[in-house]
Amino acid sequence: MSVKYDFTGRVVLITGSGSGIGAATAVHFAQSGASVVVTGRRADKLTEVAKECLKVSPKGIKALEVAADVTNKDDMRRLVDQTIKHFGKLDILVNNAGAIHNTKPIDKDFYENYEKIMALNLNSVVYLTHICIEYLEKTKGNIINISSIGAKIAYLDMTPYCMAKCAMDMFTKCMASELATKRIRTNSVVPGMVRTDCLLAMGVSQTDSDKHFESYTNLLPVGRYGQPQDIADSILYLASDHAQYINGTFIMPDGGAVAGNVFLSDLLAKSFGE
Ligand code: NDP
Repeated sequence: MSVKYDFTGRVVLITGSGSGIGAATAVHFAQSGASVVVTGRRADKLTEVAKECLKVSPKGIKALEVAADVTNKDDMRRLVDQTIKHFGKLDILVNNAGAIHNTKPIDKDFYENYEKIMALNLNSVVYLTHICIEYLEKTKGNIINISSIGAKIAYLDMTPYCMAKCAMDMFTKCMASELATKRIRTNSVVPGMVRTDCLLAMGVSQTDSDKHFESYTNLLPVGRYGQPQDIADSILYLASDHAQYINGTFIMPDGGAVAGNVFLSDLLAKSFGE
């Protein structure tokens, strides 16, 4: 059961909204009365999500679908132009598109991987935010960046991903202080393990992805891994008028993973042969 909000009259752009956290967020915003822009590279995924949005939208507002790559500046310009042309304004930007990636500093192609991971998980957020500011200023809107607990603890073999999310957290704070004079709030949501297609996107098989999430069921303090809706709830709260005095900070829906130091617990359990 998702939390109820009223976003009637607000225009929301969510990157990476063809699947996972972004898709759940798009549908929740649509259900709350917002006009939604869904975007990602796979057009078929966007159409599926747009159909869900239409089903739940109280006034039957159709989502705008824009197939685009966040690492391509021309695509991002087109995304913003189409949003303004279609809905006339922008109230909320959710920078959600991203992907985890395993790469070790010893790997031959480490630096090439590093550049790609930074381009996707960090540079795209900086660029899209930059070109949206003029519109968010007009609506006194807000920005939500989707970070990761990988910004708070070092994931093994994921140095560039952790660095990108960590830099994104500082970007959130800098934007919060710089854009406050324009009455734009900026916050971030820091998810823990959330069952999405994120591992499949890395090339992991469905079976191994299932095993991975199931293995955390008992380790996580709340006794379950997260669902996309858990994260959407935090995003909508921060974007809502209930959070008007919240700026430059984060909510960490992680089921207590960081507090309970899940990775260390996992390691200790293995070293004790459990
Ligand atoms: P998904 O793989 O389901 O979603 C990622 C989305 O990003 C996809 O819809 C994908 O669409 C889009 N995307 C990827 N690359 C690009 C690109 N170059 N241009 C445009 N869109 C792109 O995973 P999640 O929902 O889990 O991930 C959402 C966010 O949450 C990410 O930023 C991730 O880092 C973060 N996160 C996830 C956690 C988890 O456990 N699931 C934990 C912590 C953070 P398409 O391929 O069609 O372009």
